[in-house]
Amino acid sequence: MALRIDGKKTSEQIKGEIAAQVEEIKQNGGKIPHLAAILVGSDGASQTYVGAKVKACEQVGFQSTLVLLKESISEEDLLSEIQKVNENPDIDGLIVQLPLPKHISVEKVTAKILPEKDVDGFTPANVGRMALNWPTYISATPFGILELLKRYEIETSGKHCVVIGRSHIVGSPMSILMARNANPGNCTVTITHSRTKNLGEVARTADILIVALGKPEFVTAEMVKPGAVVIDVGIHRVEDPSKKSGFRLIGDVKFEEVEPIASAITPVPGGVGPMTIAALLYNTLQAAGRRVYP
Ligand code: NAP
Repeated sequence: MALRIDGKKTSEQIKGEIAAQVEEIKQNGGKIPHLAAILVGSDGASQTYVGAKVKACEQVGFQSTLVLLKESISEEDLLSEIQKVNENPDIDGLIVQLPLPKHISVEKVTAKILPEKDVDGFTPANVGRMALNWPTYISATPFGILELLKRYEIETSGKHCVVIGRSHIVGSPMSILMARNANPGNCTVTITHSRTKNLGEVARTADILIVALGKPEFVTAEMVKPGAVVIDVGIHRVEDPSKKSGFRLIGDVKFEEVEPIASAITPVPGGVGPMTIAALLYNTLQAAGRRVYP
């Protein structure tokens, strides 16, 4: 039976470590890390995500500022709100919650964020730094996966890593990170997508299989080499009348089938998902300490 990689426990550990560092900063009279979050509109899911991020800031002793803007705000006005945060010396990190209303360009908004404050790691400058293996803010989901591999001491050097999915937020950065000359890293990487032929065969050659395609329980036991490490990024709600909430969460991997043959696996829920907020807090601490851009 595979080792279960516990993202919930690991994220709590990271938050504890960050809280201890904030305490030390306070005692030394240093600057308390300060995160600003911009939320446009009143989408329920976005409000929940931003709320969780602000709450996590409080938990670890950070300062936080939530900027709430109307759905109807013009692109120009949003860009000037970002500029205000860019210029505010008290704010270390800035996130703009996605998705944005259709009349606003995500590219323009992302490019407006000062790379020094881009704790989501989405700006072209920080993605470029990641590819070059320079100090940077690694975006939340890839950061969470790397941290789990590191803390569970999973050997990656020389292994074959297959990534399923090539999105800008997960698959693509993951493939770059796993191939870097770093630990975790030093893998031989194959990145796959919807046009890949014989995906099952390719996946079965993986020592480390990172699955981020957004299709419920797509990866079955036949697609996994016995002994592989399986990282499941997918999250899907399925109806479940036996639950109080009426639904349960499942991943992109058929967990019951794959767990018995894998050597290690992330469950859904409780795997990659909980690590994302820890990543944001970690990046904000780095920003406040001027560790990425001295
Ligand atoms: P996305 O933007 O929809 O990208 C999906 C990728 O999978 C695309 O590159 C697509 O290929 C590929 N794909 C789709 N169907 C495929 C198939 N049949 N065979 C092979 N490749 C296929 O998704 P995403 O944003 O990366 O998210 C993926 C999943 O992770 C979703 O379930 C999402 O909810 C979840 N997620 C979880 C977290 C977390 O914190 N745990 C964070 C982000 C996302 P093409 O490029 O050819 O279209």
